[in-house]
Amino acid sequence: MPTIVCIVFFLSMYFFLRDYNNSTNQDEIEYIHCNGCGEKVNGSNEFCPYCKETLKEECPHCRKMVHINWRYCPYCGIAKENRWLNE
Ligand SMILES: [Zn+2]
Ligand SMILES: [Zn+2]
Repeated sequence: MPTIVCIVFFLSMYFFLRDYNNSTNQDEIEYIHCNGCGEKVNGSNEFCPYCKETLKEECPHCRKMVHINWRYCPYCGIAKENRWLNE
């Protein structure tokens, strides 16, 4: 019985899947381009680490932090242009 072959196979599959899951988790960081300097920055930042440009602003409707270059709030659906035009 080639039991040892099965054990080696499952062990290698286990390590392969574990490494695969780790690499996909790292790819979940969302990058955006800063409006001020054009650098690729982590989308969870509120300010650009290169030029201190504001990357997020508070939605006037639901008070959640929304990316400055998104056109609609993803949480409540309000169009951000409306607020900018009224200001
Ligand atoms: Zn910047
Ligand atoms: Zn909102």
